[in-house]
Amino acid sequence: MKKVLIIGAGFAGLSAAERLSRHGDCVKVTLIDAKPVFDFLPLLPDCLGRGLNPRYLSFEIDGFARKKGLEFLNAQVSGINTEERRVIAGEKTIDYDYLIIASGSRTNFYGNKELETAAFKLDSAADAQRIRRALAETDFDSYIVCGGGYTGIEVAGNLRIYLNKKKRDKRIVIIERAPSVLGPLPEWMKEYVLANLKRLNIEVLTNSAIDRVEERSMLIWTAGVRASDFIQDLNTEKNPQGRIKVDKYLRLNERCFVTGDASWFAHQGSFLRMAVQFSIMQGQAAAENIIRSIGGNRLIEFRPLDLGYIIPMANNYSCGNILGRDVKGRLPTLLHYLMCIYRSCGRKNKFGIIRNLLNRTGEAYAYT
Ligand SMILES: Cc1cc2nc3c(=O)[nH]c(=O)nc-3n(C[C@H](O)[C@H](O)[C@H](O)COP(=O)(O)OP(=O)(O)OC[C@H]3O[C@@H](n4cnc5c(N)ncnc54)[C@H](O)[C@@H]3O)c2cc1C
Repeated sequence: MKKVLIIGAGFAGLSAAERLSRHGDCVKVTLIDAKPVFDFLPLLPDCLGRGLNPRYLSFEIDGFARKKGLEFLNAQVSGINTEERRVIAGEKTIDYDYLIIASGSRTNFYGNKELETAAFKLDSAADAQRIRRALAETDFDSYIVCGGGYTGIEVAGNLRIYLNKKKRDKRIVIIERAPSVLGPLPEWMKEYVLANLKRLNIEVLTNSAIDRVEERSMLIWTAGVRASDFIQDLNTEKNPQGRIKVDKYLRLNERCFVTGDASWFAHQGSFLRMAVQFSIMQGQAAAENIIRSIGGNRLIEFRPLDLGYIIPMANNYSCGNILGRDVKGRLPTLLHYLMCIYRSCGRKNKFGIIRNLLNRTGEAYAYT
């Protein structure tokens, strides 16, 4: 029986765990996560504008593990030794035969402790709940979103929908350090998004940075992500966000695979972007390769299938590229939600999300 450790029970970690659980005769799997719950991140912005209840975006990892016959350890990993094949998780030091690093990424404040204390972040359902509570309790003078990537834009749009529903006519500003929003995305998409932000009365300041935040302003920080701290200590090639460069089999070495946001995978002359679809595919691919390696079989190269991407907007003027075709308006909005409902876990959560999105239950704006 080989011992497989998985660090991180997000999209990549859970899909790897699920795939490995089908081989209970040859592997003993331990899933480690600093949180007791899995959070469905793509719908977090909808907790603000569309009133989606964050409780439908989480489920307990322990329950999943028990159902799949795996072990779950709720602990923070602080270090790994890939030569001695050891992981330090909380108080424990655990040996492994194979390791999957699936620890994702989290908000990067670039070392600015003052802003980290003052700002809200959106890394989990608990963060979304915190923002909802602050919105309900305080009528801020202005709302600042730092970061003009797709998350920042989605958050700003949702804030406007929320403020409109509450009949609060307040300033919303997106602050972006780069010369334009949405970095490397095509020009038509940037123009479409900027026109929509104007429609929503959201200001955009580019080539700008935030030094401090006034007390009467709400600051939501979406200006970049970075890999977990234990990865920073690893002596291996990484990108500036700390993502680990992996080989064509998703490996750091023969016994260590890296998947999801934590992995930096070269693909078609560039690197794979961070997205749910790739995290799931990579988790499954790493699991398959571990089983093949145990069986002495040749490993399979990871070949991602890119279904495309969508920038969802709370007022339904979304845009994106699906299977190579540019799309805008209601269709990408619909596709985004269908995909999210399909990928969310458990019947209770799926129905809760549908009910909230259709706003049929009256609970959607019962802010607590
Ligand atoms: C607000 C928001 C909206 C998004 N919208 C979209 C979207 O519309 N479409 C899309 O494709 N992608 C979207 N993304 C990106 C997508 O969610 C990520 O690419 C995806 O979650 C990455 O999956 P993962 O499994 O690598 O990491 P995660 O899902 O982040 O899971 C990582 C897990 O590892 C755990 N962990 C981290 N460090 C440690 C440690 N030291 N010890 C123990 N456990 C640890 C964490 O607690 C977490 O549970 C969005 C992200 C955010 C934040």
